[in-house]
This record gives sequence, C-alpha cells and structure tokens, in this order.
Amino acid sequence: MSFHSGFVCILGRSNAGKSTLLNALVGEKLAIISPKPQTTRNRIQGVVHLPAARGKLGGQIILIDTPGVHKPDSSLGRKMMTEIREALEGCNLILLIHDVTQKSAPADQFVLDMVKKSGTPAFLLLNKIDKLGREKQKLLAIIEELRQRHDFKEIIPLSALKRDGLDTLVETVLQALPAGPKYFPEDQVTDQPTRFMVAEIVREQILAQTKEEVPYATTVIVEQFDEGTNITRIAATICCEREGQKAILVGKGAQMLKKIGTAARIQIERMLGQRVFLELFVKVSPGWRESREFVEGLDWRRQLQGLVGSQKS
Ligand code: GDP
Ligand code: MG
Repeated sequence: MSFHSGFVCILGRSNAGKSTLLNALVGEKLAIISPKPQTTRNRIQGVVHLPAARGKLGGQIILIDTPGVHKPDSSLGRKMMTEIREALEGCNLILLIHDVTQKSAPADQFVLDMVKKSGTPAFLLLNKIDKLGREKQKLLAIIEELRQRHDFKEIIPLSALKRDGLDTLVETVLQALPAGPKYFPEDQVTDQPTRFMVAEIVREQILAQTKEEVPYATTVIVEQFDEGTNITRIAATICCEREGQKAILVGKGAQMLKKIGTAARIQIERMLGQRVFLELFVKVSPGWRESREFVEGLDWRRQLQGLVGSQKS
C-alpha cells in the first residue's frame, strides 16, 4: 500500500484555533494557546504519523502552524507575516481555519487573497462548532458565503478543542496529499528545539497572568539550558519594553514572577520528564518590537543557520 506525505499549512485569523488544531492533531502540546490575539509568533511544524492500518492508507502529515494573519504595525508584526509567507511556500495544501462564532471581517478577505495568490489547493475548516449549540443552521449560511468567495476543495466543520471531526479531517487531508517519503523519523513530532519550546511555555504563562499591553510587549530568551542527570537547569530572561511593564511582571514581593515561574516549571518538567530548576530575570529593552535586528535575533531557525555557518567557516 502506498504512503502519502506532504506539508500542510494552517492559516487563518488570530484566535481561530490554529494552534489548538495543531496540538490536537499531533497529540502533543507543541504550540502555546491563549484567548489573546497574536499568541503564535513563529511558524511551528508538527508531524502526524499515520501507520498504514488494515485497508487504510499510511502517511505523514507535516502541519505548519502560523501566526494569525494581520496588518503588521511593527518589525515583530512584519516578521510574523514573513513567517506566514514562508510557511505557504512549497506547501501541498492549505487548511484555512475560520471561527464560526466570528462575523466576517476585512481580515478574512486578506487571508483569502493570500490563499488565492499562493495557487495552492485549500480546505475550509469551520472551527468551534461546539459553540453553536442549537444554532447549527448558522453553519449553512457561513458555508454558502465562503463557498462563493473561494473554490475550496473541501469544507469541513469541526471543533479543535473538543476533537470533533478530526478523524474525517486527517483522512481527507491524507487522501489529498501525494505519494511521498517519510520526512521525519517516527519518534519526532516537531522541528522545534527544546530551548525554544521552553521560552514559549514561559511566554504562555505571561499571556495567562498579565493583561493589556504587557504580553504583547514581552519576549522570552533562554540564556542557559543545562541538562544534568537528575535536574535540568534553565535560566531565561523576560524582555519587556518599559519600567512599568517590568514592575507588573515582577509584582509585589516578586509574587508575579514566582507565579509565572512555578506554572511554567511544572509544564517544562512534564515536557522533559525531569525535575527542572528555572530561574527568571526581567529586563527592559526599550522598543524591541520595532527593532528588526532584535526581532530577527529571536528566530531560532536563523540562530541554527548561524551555528551551521560558523562551523563551516
Ligand atoms: P490561534 O490564534 O488561531 O492559534 O488560536 P488558539 O489555538 O490559540 O485558540 C484561541 C482560543 O480559541 C483559545 O482560547 C482556544 O481554547 C479557543 N478554541 C480553539 N478551538 C476551539 C474550539 O473548537 N472550540 C472552542 N469553544 N474554543 C476553541
Ligand atoms: Mg496560534
């Protein structure tokens, strides 16, 4: 029996449920989630391994989660849109995810234009159907409207959160992919380095615990990552833009920093399967979101390239 594989880009507005879908399909938490827009800043690859079962096609679906499509207003925002374009390049299929509880907005047209321009076949995923309750007939109106705006190969209603409709999705995606190789070994579910996932877990806690502009003005850099036999020692710096934000992140008697640190540590320990000693520092880096150099420096793909480059020379 043949083996299908390929790259599948998850695209959509902020908060549509892209990262929730990635995690649900891969079966592991690879991307951080929050109800706040623009939680995801980098593209994230997750691998769904599908062994050929009796009469069933086997394959490998490489999903690429992307930041929400938005109008960029900073170097960070522009970098996020570049991440989306790079994810679209050379992918076999697009999953355009739409939150059925949201009214259509100009941003939808912008996303659709990106899909059209790419020329790549696309499925429309209508997410959060669990929220419709008795208003299921609303779905038909949404399908009708979006069908007129683009020639989707498939339209699939689902709930990423409740894992409803995911089996159908996986089967349909696999059918749509070409016969291809195993791109990743079976025990690998992501291309993300652990260090980067650690920084993201800390950032997720900042998103959960702080309000207003603080999460958006914050980034996390892992400075030290030492895996010992019994304990992993990690030191990370939380960069924000202003003294006032630093005061919030540290909190009275460093309460906030402790709260963020403890919650993040528990998750990191779960991920690594080992005890963790996590030290957090807060630093003010005025206007980092506007600095192209700073934002590019955060990109682990670029950091890896730099390492390979310096080894070669
Ligand atoms: P992203 O910005 O597109 O990556 O969206 P996230 O995956 O971060 O999800 C945004 C919010 O929507 C989070 O609070 C999720 O828990 C929630 N969410 C995602 N999928 C569903 C769903 O199927 N049903 C419901 N009720 N909520 C969902
Ligand atoms: Mg996301």
